[in-house]
Amino acid sequence: MKKMFQNMVRGISGVVFPNVCACCGLENTEHQRLLCSFCLQERFEDANPDNAPVSSDIILPEGVIAQHALWQFDKGGDLQDLLHLLKYEQLTGIGVDLGRELGVRIKKHSLLKQKLSFFPAVLLPVPLHYLKFRYRGFNQAFKISLGFQQVWNDLSICDIKSVVRDKNTRTQTGLSLKRRRQNLKNAFKVKKPAEIKDKLVVIIDDVFTTGATTFELAHTVLDSGAKEIVVLTVAQA
Ligand SMILES: [Zn+2]
Repeated sequence: MKKMFQNMVRGISGVVFPNVCACCGLENTEHQRLLCSFCLQERFEDANPDNAPVSSDIILPEGVIAQHALWQFDKGGDLQDLLHLLKYEQLTGIGVDLGRELGVRIKKHSLLKQKLSFFPAVLLPVPLHYLKFRYRGFNQAFKISLGFQQVWNDLSICDIKSVVRDKNTRTQTGLSLKRRRQNLKNAFKVKKPAEIKDKLVVIIDDVFTTGATTFELAHTVLDSGAKEIVVLTVAQA
């Protein structure tokens, strides 16, 4: 009887609040997911179909062994909308869904799969300055890391107080690479080096553009004793 009642309530709430995909708006049969399996698996273009060490044409700085983005950024398209919903509309579940998909994709990248499986590693979401964190209420890179961790459950996420962003930089959009680098110089600080020492540090962010942010963070973390760095993002701009 109880079960029948529960099913009835679930049925009614399904009519009032149908579970729809945040991307395509169609009914989503995946429970506790904001994105449907079609949008996660078919909608976007793989940014690194050949599983190369880099998904861009950038030259990696010393100590950074790979840079991989899940999908090609589509200016004005669905992926941009999704990342906007995640960052500015508080739909943090999108970050978790995207992070999980990124984790699944890395299992098909032999170099990265091997590195993440056999080396002591830690996930490092690109830290937000505390003022920005207080304003937004969450760090989108941390949400992506949470999803990633559901697939790679042996990996821990670096404690929020271990590596911090000291400098509250202006938006990087529209700045040249040189200005971006100047803007970000010494933006990050490692407060607890033990957390990253001798480890493979997996830096996680939403979008990879020029690498100015992630490579500055990589540089800081390497200086504090990290062994190697991998940069993983959802989108490749
Ligand atoms: Zn969808």
